[in-house]
Amino acid sequence: MKLHELTIHEAHRLLLRGETSSAELTQAVLDRILAVDNQVKAYLCLMPEAALDDAQKADEAIAEARREGRLHELHPLIGIPLAIKDVICVQGVPTTCGSHILENFIPPFEATVIEKLRAAQAVFLGKTNTDEFAMGSSTENSAYFTTHNPWDLTRVPGGSSGGSAASVAAGECLGALGSDTGGSVRQPASLCGLVGIKPTYGRVSRYGLVAFASSLDQIGTLGKDVTDAALLLGAIAGYDWRDSTSVNVAVPDYRAPLRPEGSSRPFGSDLLQGLRVGVPQEYFVEGMQPEVEQAVQAAIEQLAALGAEIIELSLLHTEYALPVYYLIAPAEASANLARYDGVKYGYRVPDAVDLDDAYRRTRQFGFGAEVKRRIMLGTYALSAGYYDAYYLRARQVRTLIKRDFDEAFEQVDVIAAPTAPTTAFRIGEKVEDPLQMYLSDIFTLSVNLAGICGLSIPCGFDEAGLPIGLQIMGPAFGEEVVLRAAHAYEQATDWHTRRPEL
Ligand code: GLN
Repeated sequence: MKLHELTIHEAHRLLLRGETSSAELTQAVLDRILAVDNQVKAYLCLMPEAALDDAQKADEAIAEARREGRLHELHPLIGIPLAIKDVICVQGVPTTCGSHILENFIPPFEATVIEKLRAAQAVFLGKTNTDEFAMGSSTENSAYFTTHNPWDLTRVPGGSSGGSAASVAAGECLGALGSDTGGSVRQPASLCGLVGIKPTYGRVSRYGLVAFASSLDQIGTLGKDVTDAALLLGAIAGYDWRDSTSVNVAVPDYRAPLRPEGSSRPFGSDLLQGLRVGVPQEYFVEGMQPEVEQAVQAAIEQLAALGAEIIELSLLHTEYALPVYYLIAPAEASANLARYDGVKYGYRVPDAVDLDDAYRRTRQFGFGAEVKRRIMLGTYALSAGYYDAYYLRARQVRTLIKRDFDEAFEQVDVIAAPTAPTTAFRIGEKVEDPLQMYLSDIFTLSVNLAGICGLSIPCGFDEAGLPIGLQIMGPAFGEEVVLRAAHAYEQATDWHTRRPEL
């Protein structure tokens, strides 16, 4: 197997055994980027020198640990080359959010997740493409270019973390960070054949994540398998005083629920004995791709074969998730994006005649069509006279959606459903029709509205050879049980071992 095809945990093993070095691994991935990124277009910005520098330092630390007999103490991400979605601030590195308005913004500080990954001595390869301000489901809303799906270059990788997902799937990094406001980690994971985790709201610090919709945003992880996504989550999770919504709950060892692999307990049909899996009828709707429905149903049968008890249930207010999300997210976005006025951050028109002209034309040029649409929607929903009818009402219905989940999790441990209604669609297919684009996230939005956690895991392929994702949702701070279910499923199947031919 080539180095760029390794999972994080496989690479870690090789690093500890001295069978490869971080420098070699990083160089292999950089070579891969050079070979395929002109087609995939996952990266907005690459930092090869800094990456090789990080790699060399990691190699020195590994050598020292070897001399001192404490290899087992090394962090599982040491020396591992990673990609970061370009909505997360890395000090001294351009952070554009896929927008012209932040074209020349270089953050003077580091996001908490980046600090944590640096402490783990991971290697940073660069920043990945995203829909502008993470608004979209295909990366086509990036102000710079569209990322292509490594499984079929004529198709989208999903979004908004499409650059991160495509880079992992194409072997252009070993793992990546994304952000998920309404599905932007899980949906691209599904469309690119990866595992993507949207952690519980408050599990991961948002400090240094450029805000889109603050009550929904959460940084998540993308990996080739459950173990990799869990390792990344373990590294970035935890309380942070700089994010007032981060929750002070101890971070469990997310590898613990994955232990059955290779341990004394033999792999058998009882791996999920006692686990109650809910299947919500509202998530199997007319209009979804039949192959997606079949693959997800087969995956649910597989969970049952592993000993899980399948319980049909109803999440009554599911149909309101889309309208509620598209009031709350734009409302919060319109407030968050007011700061981009050409004075404090990024781009400013060079020839403004006065302040008003500067504001107007800076924003006119700096923001793309989708961002402007959301700002207008949000401003409207928040304006006097409409606030009660739209924003307030949306917040009330959000509570009902959350309550549905609270009640469901009294009955079941996790909920299984599709991640996205279709596999990867063609580039250009939905750009003219925002509503069609919004529908891509119909199955993922509720998790963000309820503040709970969810994951997408590969569960099959359609006739065109495109990956399909199974979504497993868990209660707040229920990542461990979600990981346990996903890992058992992964061991019983081999979908996650396939790689696109590029
Ligand atoms: N596609 C959804 C939107 O456009 C979700 C995006 C996200 O999760 N960042 O808002």
